[in-house]
Amino acid sequence: MPFWPQPYESTTSHWQQTNRGPTSLWDHGRDAALPAEADYVIVGAGVTGASLAYHLTRPGATAEGKRVVVLDAKDVGSGASGRNGGHVSPRSFMYLSELWAPLEHGGGGLSMEQSVEAWFFELDNLEYIERLVKDEGLDVDFWRGERYEVFTSEERVAENRAAYAKFTTAIAASRFAGRKLPWTMVDDPAKAKELSRNDRALALNIGPAGSWHPHRGVTALLRLALGSTTSKCDFFSWCPVQAFARAGDGWALDCGERGTIRAKHVILATNAYTRHLFPGDTTGLKDHLVPTLAQAGRVVPPASFAGPRALDHTYAVELGPYLIQTPHAGLVLGPYIDVLEKGRIHSRAELFYQDDDSKVTDGVRRWLQSYCGDDFTGWGQEGPGEGLVHHWSGILAISLDAQPLVGPVPDHPGLWLAAGYNGHGMAMIVNLTRSLASHLKTGEWDAYMPRHYAITKERLDRAQKHADKLT
Ligand SMILES: Cc1cc2nc3c(=O)[nH]c(=O)nc-3n(C[C@H](O)[C@H](O)[C@H](O)COP(=O)(O)OP(=O)(O)OC[C@H]3O[C@@H](n4cnc5c(N)ncnc54)[C@H](O)[C@@H]3O)c2cc1C
Repeated sequence: MPFWPQPYESTTSHWQQTNRGPTSLWDHGRDAALPAEADYVIVGAGVTGASLAYHLTRPGATAEGKRVVVLDAKDVGSGASGRNGGHVSPRSFMYLSELWAPLEHGGGGLSMEQSVEAWFFELDNLEYIERLVKDEGLDVDFWRGERYEVFTSEERVAENRAAYAKFTTAIAASRFAGRKLPWTMVDDPAKAKELSRNDRALALNIGPAGSWHPHRGVTALLRLALGSTTSKCDFFSWCPVQAFARAGDGWALDCGERGTIRAKHVILATNAYTRHLFPGDTTGLKDHLVPTLAQAGRVVPPASFAGPRALDHTYAVELGPYLIQTPHAGLVLGPYIDVLEKGRIHSRAELFYQDDDSKVTDGVRRWLQSYCGDDFTGWGQEGPGEGLVHHWSGILAISLDAQPLVGPVPDHPGLWLAAGYNGHGMAMIVNLTRSLASHLKTGEWDAYMPRHYAITKERLDRAQKHADKLT
């Protein structure tokens, strides 16, 4: 039975609710006839598809003088990109521990040099988005500031201390020596509580952060692609690709009642839904990307956390949320997966291998309702219309080895993929698709992008041996 159209109606996120004006791309190309062929077809109009379309259609890029078609099974930003937490933030040095940990312990199994490279790649992504937003004059609520990474257990405080020492040394010994480590550690509980306004804080890291309105961000990038003066780019919403097959020296995409489109180069930007395009796959590709249910909400703070007392940092809290302050609508926050597991709010089976974003759960709703009042000092009483006002879900893709899959799909000439960001795609995708566009032009891996993102049989095999880590 085909996966599309989905038999349910997805929840609507805050971002999707607040991007409905005349410059949004709702229903764009929904009733237009699909062309029979194009030079490049991008499947998926989330941030991966939109950003790749943008980079492919710049003057001098590979699609100059050529036709690019973007397809989405639903609307622009209808997947995780339009439903996330809005953070565009590189992770702190604590992320290096995750990358470096062996696969059998749930890590990325990378060398220290590879880990440091991936870490700096995220850092550069923020710089790049900031520049792009400014240069293109995008109206996407982009904010640049700092993030508090808050630790609430002695165990994590100790790990953080050790990580800081270890990774400062590792970076100094890597080819990135000389680059500044843009994080400071506050290892004093009283100071940590005061800064974070969180009574449970024992220590915190302060480092670079960004946020944006992700649905407007995706829309703006796609609009720039559609307006390209050097390429012809079209977008067809509500056009699910049901299957693909080799056709001549390219691919034929079966889009059901919308017809068939052929292209020499097809790029899958289908993230958590990629597995449905590889039903009989035995290479490990299909199983490498695990669709995972995530939920977020919008909280309107009382006056105690508004105006001059509004939060002026984004947050990542141990056994708490990822959280941003929007310009006008209060806070957007969601629980990390381990909050749900350790708090016995959801079992792994309820979170992993799920691709239905029509449901929100009572357990997460209760958590979102109580988090700010429980943890922020002096939050106080919420009045009518304050507190949790909206709650939605989305499907992200966990990659079995904690790293995205990017580039040519082995044994499928002309088929490319970029997916699997472990709930952290905004922190790497715009940079990553710039490199992918370069690869499409030159035929060579862009040396700037971590080489271990490449899709290899060896990598898929290795990760499959640890596929049971999510069950
Ligand atoms: C609740 C939540 C909170 C998150 N918070 C953050 C955060 O704060 N910061 C951060 O960096 N990341 C966050 N993420 C992760 C981030 O949203 C993703 O990494 C990112 O959006 C992935 O973008 P994408 O374009 O690859 O995938 P998606 O946005 O999921 O886009 C894939 C698109 O492909 C389309 N598609 C799939 N299959 C087909 C097909 N067969 N035919 C046609 N179209 C198809 C889908 O309709 C969809 O639009 C969060 C995710 C969720 C769900």
